[in-house]
Amino acid sequence: MADCNDWFRTGLEHIWLPYAQMKTQPGPAPIVSTSGARLEMADGSTLIDGVGSWWTSVHGYNHPTLLKAAHEQLETMPHVMLGGLAHEQAYRLAARLAEIAPGDLYKTFFTESGSVAVEVAMKVAVQYAMNLAGERRTRFVSFKGGYHGDTFATMSVCDPEEGMHSLFSGVVPDQYVVDLPDTDDRTAVIEKLLSSHNDIAAVLVEPLIQGAGGMRMHSPETLKALREACDRHGVLLIFDEIFTGFGRTGAMFAADRAGVIPDIMCLGKALTGGITPLAATIASRKVYEAFHTDSVDHALMHGPTFTGHAIGCAVANAGLDLFETKPRLEQVNTIEAQLTERLMPLSKLPQVADVRVCGAVAAVEFADEFDVSAARSWFIERGTFIRPLGRVVYLTPAYVIEQKDLATLTGAISEFADTVR
Ligand SMILES: *Cc1c(COP(=O)(O)O)cnc(C)c1O
Repeated sequence: MADCNDWFRTGLEHIWLPYAQMKTQPGPAPIVSTSGARLEMADGSTLIDGVGSWWTSVHGYNHPTLLKAAHEQLETMPHVMLGGLAHEQAYRLAARLAEIAPGDLYKTFFTESGSVAVEVAMKVAVQYAMNLAGERRTRFVSFKGGYHGDTFATMSVCDPEEGMHSLFSGVVPDQYVVDLPDTDDRTAVIEKLLSSHNDIAAVLVEPLIQGAGGMRMHSPETLKALREACDRHGVLLIFDEIFTGFGRTGAMFAADRAGVIPDIMCLGKALTGGITPLAATIASRKVYEAFHTDSVDHALMHGPTFTGHAIGCAVANAGLDLFETKPRLEQVNTIEAQLTERLMPLSKLPQVADVRVCGAVAAVEFADEFDVSAARSWFIERGTFIRPLGRVVYLTPAYVIEQKDLATLTGAISEFADTVR
């Protein structure tokens, strides 16, 4: 404990924390070890984790299969660059992603963060139109409530007001950020939008669930309508599955659950098993072929230093092994049933505006604002790590969470609902 106080207090003076007004926000909880769906705090107490380290640790923390893959790769060859050199893990992973990705998505570009995976998708979409027809299609359609990252290009496609980047309107490029037309007139609304502009490179959407924007869910019909409209207008459709990919919605990809195949798909978060940073942008054959020509100008000029990081790819391959050998999607379905049973009844409370469940995601949206910082501390005092987003209290547990631990999380949310009146 003396030890922890030392690094924690000294470091807190110098570390700049994510999404935090550091002057007013309560300090974070120091964690010294992890296992399964649990976090051990420096004072020896345990937190049941309802978040999974920003939705990454779907197999649980310290999974032996993932640790072994990381160790073995580290000992033989931590990494070599992909420019001019090749290593097995990135190549194996690209081939396996092509195998499991929907439709003919088959060509993967690796990055180290989801934001950059979305940047690559956007760059590919703009260059696709240039390569194919010399057209300048430079703008994107994206949706209110959406979140695609924190870099400059991705800020421009996030929700402009409710997102975290409202200060930057006018600084980032102007896009068509519109209401998600999850309504009966969806076909007409989308048609009107796409037919009134000829500078649209792609439509970018988080399929089925907008994660960071508050776990907002929409119907597969909306994605089908987007697909059809994009096809009519020669516009690409990009699915940002960084949150929804790898079983989160109950199917391997939200695209599978919705029955809609995008032209480009972005992956991250659960791809990593929560261990090392890695993200991927996967293009369809049609998209890739516009780059695969005799012209050097048609090449994709992109190459992060650690593209295809060997340890990250080794862990991701081991994660795919777990999806093949463990009943991950059944586990998600069991979680979905338990979340539904435990949390849906809260929708009857007057202080609750909405309860939503899809796969291993549950959101309880309150009618009124509450003190989010105080709520976060309240959950920690009850042995749970739950981080509300605005008025939304959500759970995105590891797929391996034990039933009784999940019951503790849902119980804490029920108890919390009683305090919000
Ligand atoms: C987290 C997230 C991102 C950004 O990923 P980073 O790795 O944080 O850059 C982009 N899109 C979606 C849908 C996400 O959930």
